[in-house]
Amino acid sequence: MEIVSEERNTDKDKIDVKSLPLEELKTLFGELGEKPFRGAQMYDWMHKKLASGFEEMSNLSKEFRRFCEAHFTYTVCRTVDVQTSAIDGTRKFLFALQDGNVVESVWMKYKHGNSVCISSQVGCRMGCRFCASTLDGLERNLTPAEMLEQVYSIIRITGERVSNVVVMGTGEPMDNYDNLLVFIRMLTDENGLNISQRNITVSTCGLVPRMRELADERLQITLALSLHATTDEKRRKLMPIANRYSIGELMDACRYYFEKTGRRITFEYSLVGGVNDTMEDARELIALAKPLCCHVNLIPVNPIRERDFVQPDMRDAQAFKNKLEKNKINVTIRREMGRDIDGACGQLRRKHITTPPMEA
Ligand code: SAH
Repeated sequence: MEIVSEERNTDKDKIDVKSLPLEELKTLFGELGEKPFRGAQMYDWMHKKLASGFEEMSNLSKEFRRFCEAHFTYTVCRTVDVQTSAIDGTRKFLFALQDGNVVESVWMKYKHGNSVCISSQVGCRMGCRFCASTLDGLERNLTPAEMLEQVYSIIRITGERVSNVVVMGTGEPMDNYDNLLVFIRMLTDENGLNISQRNITVSTCGLVPRMRELADERLQITLALSLHATTDEKRRKLMPIANRYSIGELMDACRYYFEKTGRRITFEYSLVGGVNDTMEDARELIALAKPLCCHVNLIPVNPIRERDFVQPDMRDAQAFKNKLEKNKINVTIRREMGRDIDGACGQLRRKHITTPPMEA
């Protein structure tokens, strides 16, 4: 192994052990001259016992823990801000990563179990017009450990189990595809939290080649497509990605996903007042959703300060939903969890990074 001088042995040169699946961790331990079972012990501490540092790993010798500190990084999130909704108890966390970047994650309590919404990137480069996460572009991808750690931190803080994980926070998960797949495999590993694949949802603005690749993995996760418009022309006005892939190509990819995995796709459709909420839009949405047996999730747009999109009139939203229901489309209007706490994607982080520090 290359000898790394003391000066160069900064965090950058250290191995991110929490991002390694069990087999890779065991192999690494073998290469370092350690017994592979030490790797399994460490995996258990990191991903089952959710230890917050090497010092907690009490069945590993002190000497070995010192070795770990010298050679490995241990990814943890530091809580910068928590907002709790007075309406429904939803909690929104702003976490600082080790390089000082911040990401947001949301904890939602439902009757059927707790759900965590995680971010997959710091910022986003997709440019959707209504979304606060993308206003400052993409900073960087999150590592598998940083995605896992959002879930782990929330479990440590709340002391409650998590049964569902949705990748619907800041970022485009398909734009961080390799790390996303490692994250899903580790989150569903029986040696870790062992969350069922069926309880994981990944939301995408529609990167067609990646949707097809994901289908080939034949995972049992739910794929949610952020559709938001029913014609290419309208979709291009809301989402720049629509210039790359047409709705026709998207529907082919959805069909392929369903064929390969047997999992029904969810369409997310943000209702924007006066933009995509007419009966004509509803009819077109039915025509797209019906052949694919899609579930449709309507989201009254959450207005952000930087844009002038408005929520539809509640009566129009209800009429839109009724129209879909009458046509036997499985449809829900997303309950607005945490509306009083900067509910829309990226709003909490944005407030944090754009608010100048208080003057003394
Ligand atoms: N990049 C992924 C996941 C992140 S956003 C994607 O595009 O799907 C999760 C969902 O919230 C997406 O459907 C997104 O379009 C939607 N969304 C973002 N900002 C919103 C807002 N202000 N109001 C309503 N929905 C919004």
